[in-house]
Amino acid sequence: MDPARLTDSAWSEPLGDALEAAELSVETYYAISPREWASRFRYDLASCHDHPELHFRESAMAQIVRAERSGAARTRYRIVLREPTIFRLAESHDLATVLTTALTHELVHLVRFGQGLAPFEAGEHERSEEEQLVIRISEQAILTRSKGVRAQRFRHFFAEHPFTGVAES
Ligand SMILES: [Zn+2]
Repeated sequence: MDPARLTDSAWSEPLGDALEAAELSVETYYAISPREWASRFRYDLASCHDHPELHFRESAMAQIVRAERSGAARTRYRIVLREPTIFRLAESHDLATVLTTALTHELVHLVRFGQGLAPFEAGEHERSEEEQLVIRISEQAILTRSKGVRAQRFRHFFAEHPFTGVAES
């Protein structure tokens, strides 16, 4: 057991719920099928504690990296969760809001890479333009799928953390 890692079984329920909400938001926005997470847009989740080599931007809650290719298979991605930042934000916003926002953002990056809408290897300028676009798309995708109190929580979070919604790619 290591509750410092969101990939630990202690967090499987809130993580699973947030992931389901994030996938649904992105599926709706891009009109993709749930099956495509296992075929076109394959990814897994990891903890930043298992990736000490990664550099995160100051406000980032997560980061998407390319995992190794296996033979001729398609590229697989890995969403690396930055727990210290996520848990800190969850002190003033609920964990579901923070996690769903972080995961939705990374899944939007993933679909855009997978569909060839954005290059994985990008220069600094392209990267910051793409980042702004991904922030807007993620917020819109989340709000389209949220109602009532949940939508209010997301709006509040986006307003307070306009650049954390919002991890770097
Ligand atoms: Zn990003």
